[in-house]
Amino acid sequence: MILRLAAVVLLVLVGLTAPASAAPVLVEVRAQPSVVEVRAQPSVVEVRAQPSVVEVRAQSSVVEVRAQSSVVEVRAQRASKPLGGRTIVLDPGHQLGNHNFPAQINRPVPAGGFTKPCNTTGTATDGGYPEATFAWQVSRLVARRLRALGATVVLTRHSNRQDRWGPCVDVRGRAGNAIDADLKLSVHADGSYAAGARGFHVIAPADRAPWTDDIFRSSSRLARDVKAGLVSRGFSPANYIAGGDGLDVRSDLGTLNLSDVPTVMAELGNMRSAAEARVMTSAAGRARYARGLVAGVRAFLG
Ligand SMILES: [Zn+2]
Repeated sequence: MILRLAAVVLLVLVGLTAPASAAPVLVEVRAQPSVVEVRAQPSVVEVRAQPSVVEVRAQSSVVEVRAQSSVVEVRAQRASKPLGGRTIVLDPGHQLGNHNFPAQINRPVPAGGFTKPCNTTGTATDGGYPEATFAWQVSRLVARRLRALGATVVLTRHSNRQDRWGPCVDVRGRAGNAIDADLKLSVHADGSYAAGARGFHVIAPADRAPWTDDIFRSSSRLARDVKAGLVSRGFSPANYIAGGDGLDVRSDLGTLNLSDVPTVMAELGNMRSAAEARVMTSAAGRARYARGLVAGVRAFLG
């Protein structure tokens, strides 16, 4: 973008704090005789220039502003897309309407050498905020962030509605296979009534031929990365399950057993804990969960 501007000479290079992987920068330029304003989205960037004053406020992107005599050139550098070419399956647990379709969700489906009910209804907070909605909202945030980083993101469900059910665990389990996804992340929350029970745990598949012997190692690494991502955003491993280290291994979950790509199920917390329910029901809390999951995915994908 080239913009004529009188009597301004400036050179501003804004190298910002965020990772170089920030989303593409959209730049809008407005000019008055002695003022230049640059705004960049989705991050917040403001550059104001007057003949002798340059003010820069910015977060998480790179913006370059150059001026020569009466011409100001404003360029927004597109941030790199570190997850370009990657495909990630997000599996938001359950469907809001599952409880309205008992015949459908209780139908047995293949789950990795045995059958299990198609799906369950999930849990909820004591205040009635459903796990399905929590998983849906967090997964959408994760999807948005991953797409901004260049990834192709495929969701196993496309709505969160009382008049829908499924998909079944076999469909969820295979969701990454045909598209050769780099990983599949299943998002859930737990519902334990044990006193004081709180914290997240990440479940990886067991080493079990012929189902998960090919992915248990990579999935274990994914589990450790997702755990570290959540810890880095202030979340604590569960104190009531999975041995206290936040890492569990299970062989009874169709969602994990039927996957041919690295996969884990993240139980982000205990919805029956009043303290965790407060975090889960807040937009800021869900955004923090999403950042933790994205950090884990990014670490895994290197
Ligand atoms: Zn669940």
